[in-house]
Amino acid sequence: MYKTAINSFTLPRMTILTLYFRAMILTDTHTHLNSKQFAADRDDMMQRAIQAGVTRFFVPSIDKSRTESLYDIEARYPGQVFLMMGLHPVYVKDDYEEELAFVEAELARRRFVAVGEIGIDMYWDKSTLPLQQDAFRRQIRMAKQYGLPINIHGRDAFDPIFEILEEEKGDDLRGVFHCFSGNRQQAEQAISYGMKLGIGGVVTFKNGQIDQFLADISLSDIVLETDAPYLAPVPYRGKRNETAYIVHVAEKLAALHGTTVAEVARITTENSRDVYGI
Ligand SMILES: [Zn+2]
Repeated sequence: MYKTAINSFTLPRMTILTLYFRAMILTDTHTHLNSKQFAADRDDMMQRAIQAGVTRFFVPSIDKSRTESLYDIEARYPGQVFLMMGLHPVYVKDDYEEELAFVEAELARRRFVAVGEIGIDMYWDKSTLPLQQDAFRRQIRMAKQYGLPINIHGRDAFDPIFEILEEEKGDDLRGVFHCFSGNRQQAEQAISYGMKLGIGGVVTFKNGQIDQFLADISLSDIVLETDAPYLAPVPYRGKRNETAYIVHVAEKLAALHGTTVAEVARITTENSRDVYGI
């Protein structure tokens, strides 16, 4: 009797909808929660994200100077915020040996879910390319040593990144190509190296171009991200981005794939568990 009393036919429609949305788990695989741009309203921003269904936040490291703020946000949201350790390519400078030694020591000292964000950026500074290549290669090897995935940042740099992934590919290489914004052939190549495509606000841009072919890329190769506070999706393009806006990315992907937001949430969250092991 008790069982039939709570079956779905007797539940008001709104309750069913609420349960349905509660069950939806969205995962932001790349969000800078520790950014100074959230200093004034960080907890409100987190609550908006949680209300939107995001309960898993993966936060990349930039450099040594931003590490304490990573640990602060992790301590404030245990079990929801997961940290990466790495040196961002834009911050690879003459002192990068010291920065890499720090990354190595932190990886040895405590648990992280990935080495990131690492990669090559030719947009901001081409002159450091040889240093960036060295830092990228060595951080990939650190990831392999600890059995961790990598989180790749690439800007105007598909060729040098693929050159290194080609050398390092294998069963021990996996990760996410963060903020993927290449063409179809580059998408397939990234996937062939064991990468998921990190899809964010760019998919909602009129001139973003990745919407032209993402319908042909299996959802099993895609994870969601915001890269907040950067790259806000339409209708917030140009404004400060925040994790709650990931819903607009999920909606666009669902439309491209002819499926529901709930299904996109389910598959991409499952993919994030496969990659990050959590
Ligand atoms: Zn980032």
